[in-house]
Amino acid sequence: MLKSCGKKGVVATAGTTLVCLAVLLVAAHRRAVRQGEKLHEREFPMRSLQSWESSSRTRPGDPQERGFSAYFSRLTRDKREVAKADPRAKPATETPPAENITPNDVFIAVKTTKKFHQSRLDLLVHTWISRNMQQTYIFTDGEDEELKKKIGDRAINTNCSAAHSRQALSCKMAVEYDKFVESGKKWFCHVDDDNYVNTRALVKLLSQYAHTQDIYIGKPSLDRPIEATERLGDNKMRPVNFWFATGGAGFCLSRGLALKMSPWASGGHFMNTAEKIRLPDDCTIGYIIESVLGVALIRSNLFHSHLENLQQVPKAELHKQVTLSYGMFENKRNIINIKGAFSNEEDPSRFKSVHCLLYPDTPWCPFQLAS
Ligand code: UDP
Ligand code: MN
Repeated sequence: MLKSCGKKGVVATAGTTLVCLAVLLVAAHRRAVRQGEKLHEREFPMRSLQSWESSSRTRPGDPQERGFSAYFSRLTRDKREVAKADPRAKPATETPPAENITPNDVFIAVKTTKKFHQSRLDLLVHTWISRNMQQTYIFTDGEDEELKKKIGDRAINTNCSAAHSRQALSCKMAVEYDKFVESGKKWFCHVDDDNYVNTRALVKLLSQYAHTQDIYIGKPSLDRPIEATERLGDNKMRPVNFWFATGGAGFCLSRGLALKMSPWASGGHFMNTAEKIRLPDDCTIGYIIESVLGVALIRSNLFHSHLENLQQVPKAELHKQVTLSYGMFENKRNIINIKGAFSNEEDPSRFKSVHCLLYPDTPWCPFQLAS
């Protein structure tokens, strides 16, 4: 009995001990989990709103405060790591300038043709060029005394053909390149005569890079590299793929890169190179830079041609854009969305309205502007 009772007692005691051990183990495990959670919270205090609130109540030197700043330094470190992965991707708002430049360091080449002097160029001279007379050079194909009076010898008659042919356009680009090299300026930017150039945004963008580096920046019009055939001579051909920045949105080159392009771009070489791939001027620039020199295009969404839907340029960020355009896209009129100082009838390109937004002190801008 005792034995059995004793047995029962031993069993009961053992049972109780086991239950107690189990309870203790569970409690210990829960404590460990809670401690683990606290550790985790300290490491990542912004994961939940609760920990964000408790962090914001902490004082300097508190363990949580240390965790908070550790989190931020970790974020900063991560950001730096991303920048390291693609050092060329630099958001202009966050990165300090690599080089302090002024508008005078930039050579802006505008390609035009005599028949567009009145219908297109006058508008540019009236708006953005008037604020950038010293750095804007007009490349055209005929004499125009009126233009000379306004621009002086920065109106350049290239003597290239006035046709819209591949050769004629490359002839103008070749002269643009040579004049830039001659100018000694730090940056070369090319635009068409249906582009508005916002020089403040342009200077801010270019100052993110050193002009001595190899920089080619603009916006591709295709979503893939262009496929071309390079003529090697002896009737031999070779397929080549490369990205290029569309001339209609404008693009820029650093002096460092432009000088390296010289054997393929200076003097008569640009025309020969264009003939090798039988593509227009802007493609030839991309070919020399990407295929020949192995330098990749830096894509920027701040350049705009009328080959994209200009209605999609955010109204609130117009002042940040480097170039704008107007024209036709998919058989429809394509202009930016700005209410601005002038109606669509008074200002069909919207450039006058943009100009008054960027330079409200212009005498012909209405005093009060609706944006
Ligand atoms: N252009 C030119 N010669 C011509 C026609 C056009 O130099 O015979 C220039 C024009 O002034 C502009 C660029 O080429 O700077 C592109 O022309 P456009 O805007 O008419 O055509 P897109 O290629 O944009 O459709
Ligand atoms: Mn155009």
